[in-house]
Amino acid sequence: MGPSDAYGPVEQGRTYGWVHGGARPDIKPVGTNAAADWDAALSIGMQSRTAPAGRSYDVAVVTAKGARRWKLGHPWIYRSDVSRRPDGPAGAVRVEDHRGKRIGTALWSPASEISLRMVDHDASVALDAEWWRHRIGTAIRRRESIANLTTAFRLIHGEGDGCPSLICDRYDRWLVVQLMSAGLEVFRDVIVDVLEELVHPAGILARNDVPLRAKEHLSVSVELLRGSVPDEVEVNEHGIRVLAAPWRGQKTGAFLDQRENRVLIGELARGRALDCFSYHGSFALHLARRADSVVALDVSAEALRRAGENCVRNEITNVELVEADAFDYLREQHRAFGECFETIVLDPPAFAKSRASLPAAIRGYKEINLRALRLLTPGGLLFTASCSFHLTKPLFLEMLQSAAADSGRRVALRAMTGQPIDHPEVITIPETGYLKGALLEVLD
Ligand code: SAH
Repeated sequence: MGPSDAYGPVEQGRTYGWVHGGARPDIKPVGTNAAADWDAALSIGMQSRTAPAGRSYDVAVVTAKGARRWKLGHPWIYRSDVSRRPDGPAGAVRVEDHRGKRIGTALWSPASEISLRMVDHDASVALDAEWWRHRIGTAIRRRESIANLTTAFRLIHGEGDGCPSLICDRYDRWLVVQLMSAGLEVFRDVIVDVLEELVHPAGILARNDVPLRAKEHLSVSVELLRGSVPDEVEVNEHGIRVLAAPWRGQKTGAFLDQRENRVLIGELARGRALDCFSYHGSFALHLARRADSVVALDVSAEALRRAGENCVRNEITNVELVEADAFDYLREQHRAFGECFETIVLDPPAFAKSRASLPAAIRGYKEINLRALRLLTPGGLLFTASCSFHLTKPLFLEMLQSAAADSGRRVALRAMTGQPIDHPEVITIPETGYLKGALLEVLD
């Protein structure tokens, strides 16, 4: 397994588990002038960001290969490409190429396979509050357009926002952060200060219970950093109310990356609909607005219990909760009823956790897609997704072609989707991208 296999993607894989509790009042409704408030909070003064005289960081020297990678737009420099390691502990360092030319400033992680995470082409900046305020403020400002559509979205998508190994998600008035490298951890207090200053959250939680931190020799735990954070937070996504679980939910509390896809298929849904791998029902709730009836299926009883609560919260009564294995259910429905759905969503967990597991994962993806296509009536729609970093866009499409061929149906590709604006996939950093979606129509 190569280093990029061990560390990609930027996004943490989907795991299991969540929590239950009470939401807080004082929730800013979607559609109020949230964006304007944010604008005021973000009027950032850009002054000189050069390190004060006398401020010195350690120096790392990298190979020609390492330097070239940065030149081509990728911020990671692996251990094998560091020809002279900094003497000091984790933190900021200046980076020189093999000829002694300074190529920038990086976060240094002594224990990691990714030794250096480049953050700036300028080799004289100080990574002080002003620097972070500018970097984080830029990321937050990019999201202003969605602050009126949803109260839950990603504020900082790691390398995608020029903040390597840093994730920050907003759930209404609360923030959940993940700091996933030793070099970044050193800047924890200043980052949290800047987030407080720019966003004024009611609380900031660190969901640092991610295995990647162990590789960085960092503690693996959940920690309240500022204020207080409730067990559950009600968020409003395009008019649908959903409970997120910041302390123990999957990822940082919910799946924020499918927001636009829920709207896409929600607007097209009709007839009898199936939301496979439903978790707490986010797709199902959107489908239920137009479909006659919806089956929300998940293997987890806990997930379905919350899906039920979310239905009540939205006064939705046409969703049936089914606790089952999706593979079995899809097979049995076809055997018993043939073509019996007009709309299907497949949003499985990452089947390919590593490159080595890709062939088996592709077989799994193909099986569920093939079975879903067989279940659709002529004219029926399938929205299907994969969040496996290792299943690239071409492989995803190839898998769908193969499933369509085996299904014996004529299938049109109506749209392919990627990540929403708050999860920027930087084209020179493949690890920032992981989510792919396709809208398929069974023609006859
Ligand atoms: N669609 C959800 C996210 C799904 S995450 C959303 O938009 O929020 C993947 C879900 O698949 C998890 O809830 C997990 O419990 C469920 N799952 C995993 N394996 C499964 C299986 N074999 N059958 C059914 N559900 C499964």
